[in-house]
Amino acid sequence: MSATLATVSYIGATILFILSLGGLSNPETSRRGNLYGMIGMTIAVLATVFGPQITPAGYVWIIAAMAVGASIGLYAARVVKMTQMPELVALMHSLVGLAAMLVGFANYIDPAAAGTFKGAEKTIHELEIYLGILIGAVTFSGSVIAFGKLSAKISGKPVLLPGRHWLNLAGLLVVIGFGWHFINTHTVADGMIPLIVMTVIALLFGIHMVMAIGGADMPVVISMLNSYSGWAAAATGFMLNNDLLIVTGALVGSSGAILSYIMCRAMNRRFLSVIAGGFGTEGGVPGAAGGGGKGNEPAGEVVAIQAAETAELLREARNVIIVPGYGMAVAQAQHAVYEITKHLREMGINVRFGIHPVAGRMPGHMNVLLAEARVPYDIVFEMDELNVDFPETDVAMVIGANDIVNPSAQEDPASPIAGMPVLEVWKAKTSIVMKRSMASGYAGVDNPLFYKENNRMLFGDAKKMLDEVLVALKG
Ligand code: NDP
Repeated sequence: MSATLATVSYIGATILFILSLGGLSNPETSRRGNLYGMIGMTIAVLATVFGPQITPAGYVWIIAAMAVGASIGLYAARVVKMTQMPELVALMHSLVGLAAMLVGFANYIDPAAAGTFKGAEKTIHELEIYLGILIGAVTFSGSVIAFGKLSAKISGKPVLLPGRHWLNLAGLLVVIGFGWHFINTHTVADGMIPLIVMTVIALLFGIHMVMAIGGADMPVVISMLNSYSGWAAAATGFMLNNDLLIVTGALVGSSGAILSYIMCRAMNRRFLSVIAGGFGTEGGVPGAAGGGGKGNEPAGEVVAIQAAETAELLREARNVIIVPGYGMAVAQAQHAVYEITKHLREMGINVRFGIHPVAGRMPGHMNVLLAEARVPYDIVFEMDELNVDFPETDVAMVIGANDIVNPSAQEDPASPIAGMPVLEVWKAKTSIVMKRSMASGYAGVDNPLFYKENNRMLFGDAKKMLDEVLVALKG
């Protein structure tokens, strides 16, 4: 393929990626967005493989690498459950970081590049390598820890080293110092030492940064690592002289940064405070079953009900708001929820869904599940749109959600989730919480909602309970 055709293909792929991001911003257009992304990526891969940079000898390596990568990808896509998607995404971010690191080192020791760059060009080239490896290493180790936390292989509890801010600052100064030393070295052997020291510090920083973040703040970290993986890809693009990779990386990096901002707003946190870590340490033990803020411990009795009583409450209601959470994903209860919704709507009951921005374990988790079950988009609302309506709501039905409906975020300043906006389901005439036990949610905080006078608990697996409710409703 000629260089011109490759450039034209790259521009076409870039346009498709931008259209893809535009499509993904709305559930109604997200399928189209995905399609644009897939076509764009196919064009990008073909234009790169058949592009002028590849020599025939390289095809063996490329085909072998694509066969291995595609097999692992196909296998993962087939076996990974929907509930494991967040950790899979974290793992994929780590691979982008690892690739940036490896490309950086390969680029540095490449004998073909030796002596090619002189003066300012040499400095720029080495700066690209240094920054590429730095961002790649932080992304790699941070994402591996995020994977561990999301898959519960590592506790969600923040691990805070004494003087952690000073440690971070010292690490930053050493990285800057070694960076200066690196670009002033003249041989690959001399430059290797600062490069390796910086890589080790960056890897440790990634681990330290994510370990220090408390359970409820993980959404910000996920979107931040998403953004880092984009910048790592852009850095790889600079090192490989590949314009498409630079543009694609920048698109992912900036959209991840916007998502981090949205997540921070949803959690009512300042980005820098989250990155510095330590939220969720004053009041409780995130990740611990049963939780326990040392603020106002919820007290009182919980009132348990059965499916038949739930059906009765729903049948008598005029307005119902359903609040899904992570438990709906675990139970795969989205289809059962929609069956009940259809039935209630046929009875003339106004049913709407309230979606918290951090419900589930990845941004948009609930929207994806509801779209899969074909719930109409016009009855799915964001938290801010619905919160004012709870006082006029007869039944608020909480399906496998916990942290996102926890009133202690508003009522208990000592709570680890204090200040986080929540769906105010307790303001409805009756709230019904569907979950299996009294266990706490991801943030490990006890939930006073369960003890409120107008709250009822429907204990059991969400899918099983909803099936029973539907049978009772139809009966
Ligand atoms: P939570 O984790 O707070 O609560 C989920 C609840 O679902 C649990 O209390 C659990 O209780 C219940 N549950 C689990 N399995 C089932 C089942 N089979 N049937 C019925 N119930 C079940 O989830 P939320 O959605 O309320 O809040 C999300 C939390 O995750 C927030 O703290 C958020 O910060 C965090 N987070 C979000 C991310 C995102 O990007 N959205 C990323 C990382 C973290 P029980 O065991 O008793 O059944």
